Amino acid sequence: MLRLLFGAPKILAELGLNRAITPAATNKISGDQRFHSGKAHDVIIVGNGAFGSSIAYHLSKQGAKVLTLDMHPPAHPWGSSHGHTRIIRLAYFEGPEYVPLLRRSYDLFLELQDLCGQELFFKTGVLDVGTTFEKAYSTARRYNLPHEVLTAKEVNTRFPGYSVPEDVMSLFQPDGGILCPENIIQAHSSLAMKHGCTVRSGVTVASWRGLSGSAINSTGSVEIKLSNGEKHVGAQLVLTAGAWMSQLVPELKRLCVPERQVVAWFDCPEDQFAKESFPVFIAGSSDNEIFYGFPQYGQQRGFKIGLYNHLREIVDPDNLDRTFTRKDEVALRRGVQQFFKSADNKVLHSNTCMFTNTPDGHFILDRHPAYPQVILCSACSGHGFKMSSGVGQLLSDIALSGGPGSSDVQQELQLHRINSDREGHAEFIQASLSSS
Ligand SMILES: Cc1cc2nc3c(=O)[nH]c(=O)nc-3n(C[C@H](O)[C@H](O)[C@H](O)COP(=O)(O)OP(=O)(O)OC[C@H]3O[C@@H](n4cnc5c(N)ncnc54)[C@H](O)[C@@H]3O)c2cc1C
Repeated sequence: MLRLLFGAPKILAELGLNRAITPAATNKISGDQRFHSGKAHDVIIVGNGAFGSSIAYHLSKQGAKVLTLDMHPPAHPWGSSHGHTRIIRLAYFEGPEYVPLLRRSYDLFLELQDLCGQELFFKTGVLDVGTTFEKAYSTARRYNLPHEVLTAKEVNTRFPGYSVPEDVMSLFQPDGGILCPENIIQAHSSLAMKHGCTVRSGVTVASWRGLSGSAINSTGSVEIKLSNGEKHVGAQLVLTAGAWMSQLVPELKRLCVPERQVVAWFDCPEDQFAKESFPVFIAGSSDNEIFYGFPQYGQQRGFKIGLYNHLREIVDPDNLDRTFTRKDEVALRRGVQQFFKSADNKVLHSNTCMFTNTPDGHFILDRHPAYPQVILCSACSGHGFKMSSGVGQLLSDIALSGGPGSSDVQQELQLHRINSDREGHAEFIQASLSSS
């Protein structure tokens, strides 16, 4: 059975939130057309990280009264969005269905960069080396995306920092590159504030509850409680708490699983690993490990490498071990030794971070099964940042529409809706409905 949860339009119609606003149309809303629910806050957002800040920007730009709450300041190093660099690429080995959302996100990042006048994106090109090559190539062809197929010899000659093993094929996508996560979160947050959003840091949301009979309840349709006892009410709530998601929605425990990640910067010959001559990479080894990384970029010396899912350690986000261990180094050095021999040197710096994995690797972007006034946004599984701008725009359209959003929105988010055909979702729906 295919079951997509598109909310409860009736309740939302009663709240006056059921106007259908397409992404194209939303850009034109201004003046007396601006959105208002009549509640203290039109939307409360828990989590002001990559996604929360983007949703806040798109909502407040359209006139919604938005309150964001986070236990840390914007662009902090304790969640999933720090470390100076994130990869963006379009020929997605994870699936061609992502391309429309990737294109939207890519354009929005460029627009954001123009708006804030600061470097948020640097185009290096991206190399998909080895096991990810076939799928990335297939997506590139299906969507007619610019690409070149390169042999190991061609890669190693053209990009001397690389030492790709013989017989390994690569796909070069010239449009990919580096996003600057901290700057992007700061930019989204600052612009949201400029549009009237209230951004509060240093506050922890302890609990939330949907208020029944919301249509006639002038205090709002959802209430959140902070750990200091303060309460806030809003017409809608967006939960986008990264690795802490299942603390706020316990039924998500099996669907949003925090995993420890470690990246390290290895000393390298600067000319070979400069951002002008070394594309970002995804490199799949014959042992089914996938490494990813960046040229030397910004203030930090060395080139950065990570291993998808690292040591597969499931963690409690409040007790994450941030020490860089011998095991961490051994795992990352395997990637250096296979693909970047001239950087098999000492580790200059390291960083610990968290993925929040879903069983199928796709995101969870939908209204809560039991509380349609609550939107769930868990978009990681190690690859979400590059879509945070697009998801922010689409989820803000869902919130403003009061229902499932326009057909464009539904199409682009289809892979990420709550759907009993997805692993673990039937149980989640069942548990949500029975605990409401
Ligand atoms: C090492 C690493 C490398 C990655 N590389 C890439 C890449 O190259 N490309 C890519 O596209 N993606 C990449 N990702 C994934 C991407 O970074 C994440 O998908 C994205 O940053 C997640 O953003 P978020 O908003 O969900 O989480 P966060 O940015 O962590 O935001 C969640 C926020 O919620 C707040 N919060 C939680 N609970 C509460 C509460 N109860 N009260 C108040 N506040 C709360 C937290 O303080 C936090 O600020 C990588 C991730 C990691 C860890």
